[in-house]
Amino acid sequence: MEPRTDTPLPSSRFSATVRFRVQSGLLGDDDMADDCIFCKIARKEIPTDILFEDDDLIAFNDIHPQAPSHLLVVPKAHIPTLNDLTEDQASLIGALVLRAQALAVERGIDEAGYRLVMNCNHEGGQTVFHIHLHLLGGRQMRGFG
Ligand code: 5GP
Ligand code: ZN
Repeated sequence: MEPRTDTPLPSSRFSATVRFRVQSGLLGDDDMADDCIFCKIARKEIPTDILFEDDDLIAFNDIHPQAPSHLLVVPKAHIPTLNDLTEDQASLIGALVLRAQALAVERGIDEAGYRLVMNCNHEGGQTVFHIHLHLLGGRQMRGFG
C-alpha cells in the first residue's frame, strides 16, 4: 500500500498529553506501563480468565458487565488512547475487530447482533488508559449516551 501523503503523520508515536506524562515521570516510555491495569492483566500479574490470547491481543470479560456478554479485546502493547494510534498500527486495530467478531460467533450472539465500542479520553467515557474494544451483546442495545 502506498503511504498517504494528504495528511501529515503524527510527529510522535504518542499524543502531547502522554508525552507530558512521560516527561513528568508519570508514565514509562515502554510498550508496557508498570501501573496500567490492562498491562498487568496481559503480564498475568492480575488473575483474570483470559478468553483469547495471541502474540498481539488478549480478551477477557469486563469486571462490571453492562450486558449478558461484555468482553474486552485488548492489544498487549500499551497504547494509552485512540489519539496515540499511528498508521503502522492499522493492522492491529483490524485484528482487534476481527477477534471481536470471532468471539461474537463463539458466544452465539453474531446473528442476533452486538455492539463494538471504543472510548477515547474523558468526554468519550474512557476510564482505563490502555486502548480496548468493548464487545457487548445478549440484549437489545439502545441509543448512545
Ligand atoms: P472504558 O471506560 O475505559 O472504555 O472501559 C474500561 C472497562 O474496563 C470498564 O468497562 C471496566 O468495567 C473494565 N475494567 C476496569 N478494571 C478492570 C479489571 O481489573 N478487570 C476487568 N476484567 N475489567 C476491568
Ligand atoms: Zn497498558
